[in-house]
Amino acid sequence: MLKQTVKFFRKNLDRFASSKWKHFYGNFVRSVTSNSSTDTTTSYSVPKEKVECIVIGAGVVGIAVARSLALKGRDVLVIESASTFGTCTSSRNSEVIHAGIYYPHNSFKALFCVRGREMLYEYCSKHDIPHKQIGKLIVATRSSEIPKLNDIINRGIQNGVDSLRMMDGAEAMKMEPRLQCVKAILSPLSGIVDSHSLMLSLVVCIYAFLAPFTMLNINPMLVQGEAENHGATFTYNSTVTGGHLEGNQICLHISETKSIKEWNGTSILRPELVVMPKLVVNSAGLCAPILAKRFTGLQSQVVPPAYYARGCYFTLSNTKATPFRHLIYPIPVDGGLGVHVTIDLNGHVKFGPDVEWINGVDDNSSFLNKFDYSVSANRAEQFYPEIRKYYPNLKDGSLEPGYSGIRPKLSGPGQPSVDFVIQGEDIHGVPGLINLYGIESPGLTSSMAIADFISTRFLG
Ligand SMILES: Cc1cc2nc3c(=O)[nH]c(=O)nc-3n(C[C@H](O)[C@H](O)[C@H](O)COP(=O)(O)OP(=O)(O)OC[C@H]3O[C@@H](n4cnc5c(N)ncnc54)[C@H](O)[C@@H]3O)c2cc1C
Repeated sequence: MLKQTVKFFRKNLDRFASSKWKHFYGNFVRSVTSNSSTDTTTSYSVPKEKVECIVIGAGVVGIAVARSLALKGRDVLVIESASTFGTCTSSRNSEVIHAGIYYPHNSFKALFCVRGREMLYEYCSKHDIPHKQIGKLIVATRSSEIPKLNDIINRGIQNGVDSLRMMDGAEAMKMEPRLQCVKAILSPLSGIVDSHSLMLSLVVCIYAFLAPFTMLNINPMLVQGEAENHGATFTYNSTVTGGHLEGNQICLHISETKSIKEWNGTSILRPELVVMPKLVVNSAGLCAPILAKRFTGLQSQVVPPAYYARGCYFTLSNTKATPFRHLIYPIPVDGGLGVHVTIDLNGHVKFGPDVEWINGVDDNSSFLNKFDYSVSANRAEQFYPEIRKYYPNLKDGSLEPGYSGIRPKLSGPGQPSVDFVIQGEDIHGVPGLINLYGIESPGLTSSMAIADFISTRFLG
């Protein structure tokens, strides 16, 4: 493996040394004035470089965007604060391929989910990504919920989701003998996917730059994939901490993540590298609005307020057979789709996610993904009654804490759900800057459609 790495490294050395990657060798130092929100006055030396395209964040959306830009012949540098890809929300979700039912007609969520689902199934089939179109039942467990079920199916039909069918309770319970419901929608197009295999496949030849400015510290991990073969490079352990405008040019401030670890959150944060991309896609997930607020020169009123809603999962223990063959979803609740049943590709069942609003997220925590992802066993008390509405035979003591994820939301408790936000120059006036905000569910399903939209709309 090491030999292979060295071979790869040598092969690429010329490319790196010849042009835009000179800063990795530390010989490209110029003096710049940093105008970041933490440092508006100081002038000091910092490497500065031009890059064609930057994607901030290697979650499933950032990776898909990088791949799409690379497939269009662009040189893309993906900058990721963690030590590898997909460690945030992209690996902390239900792994459901959504059909596109719930979202307002013509919203980004509806359009990208329907298109993204089609693209995802096609990609997974072509690239042998583990996935299964197992179908889903959305259930009304009492007659007062039936009007909501009717609204949901009408919306799904409006959104162009094929094959939806309303069933009476008896038919649904025949299909799923452990289910209790009075009516249900069958969504045959819903499915599940192994999100890690998906991301691994989308990223090609990943190699971690353990420190971005010392290429010798290369990680001997090589993975064959797609994006890298087409001109995308992934730089891990590197955090975009802010930016400033020079004229109309956005300049990004980048530091090694380990430097941020020592940062107290209030002192001046000096970049170790400044890059000037022609195009930058802020796909930093939970961190995207916080980061955009640190782009000096970007009007702060165009950055939407960020809200965070944690969702916990519990797994089913003490059960030999999987109780359900389909995904089972109750009627959606404020902030989420309700505590539903998800089956993974190994047949294991999990319940969740619930909704718990989180306050007080600071810049440092969001850069370093220092969120509290622990799942307290006490939360099971709220899960049992919710699940028993549709699975009355759930045994006491059968739920075990699983994992949690945090939804990057743009509306708070009690407020109507907000669509995905994709902001380009037409909104904020900065050429080449694209900010992605509120990419919550169905972001995994939508990822390839979002990527397609960005590379089609914003590449000149
Ligand atoms: C509980 C839960 C369940 C969900 N279930 C589903 C589902 O079943 N189906 C579905 O379609 N969707 C689902 N989603 C939504 C889906 O998981 C997300 O929409 C998707 O993963 C978002 O991907 P992303 O790339 O935008 O963000 P992320 O995966 O969060 O990636 C952002 C990346 O940016 C990096 N980063 C952050 N700040 C910086 C910085 N300053 N510099 C450099 N890098 C930075 C982070 O380390 C991270 O790797 C769910 C979400 C949650 C929370």
